[in-house]
Amino acid sequence: MIGPLDILLSSEDIAARIKTLGEEISSHYQGKPIILICVLKGSFVFAADLVREIDGPIQIEFMRLSSYGNSTTSSGEINMILDLNIDITDKEVLIVEDIVDTGITLFFLRDHIEKKGPAAVKICSLLHKPARQKVEVPIDFLGFTIEDKFVVGYGLDHDERYRNLPFIGVVPT
Ligand code: 5GP
Repeated sequence: MIGPLDILLSSEDIAARIKTLGEEISSHYQGKPIILICVLKGSFVFAADLVREIDGPIQIEFMRLSSYGNSTTSSGEINMILDLNIDITDKEVLIVEDIVDTGITLFFLRDHIEKKGPAAVKICSLLHKPARQKVEVPIDFLGFTIEDKFVVGYGLDHDERYRNLPFIGVVPT
């Protein structure tokens, strides 16, 4: 159980940023078909809002990885719980993540996707915590850079709670 949360990003802040991210993504792809991969569970709220701000043909797919277990620090060990079951050869792939922390999850995921032979792989993340980054992964479309705080809400959990909050809050330490 954790105490009251400080609001870091309101639902209005998030909605405004996602609108411009959608414009950036639409103008990058120029109507080319995209395979958008929503990385479960944390990205489901973000991806649902983001796809409605992108113009053009999008196929939406889901993958599920886990790295955190029940704690608030990364184990560094990635488990693939749900892989893609479609052919992405020569396709434009956009990975949608909730947060890049150490970068280990995305590094692993990007490599895994690249091996399937897509035309290009781009990354969109709502949040980035550069202070904790351990491996370099380029984020092509980024929502917000945040400080080294454990955040919840808008899809992000703490022991599977708080994913339904409409804002992003900071867990007091
Ligand atoms: P990384 O592999 O970059 O260290 O971690 C990525 C994953 O860790 C994210 O997809 C997310 O599930 C989890 N994570 C990292 N930082 C936070 C955070 O501040 N809050 C929550 N709820 N999850 C986080």
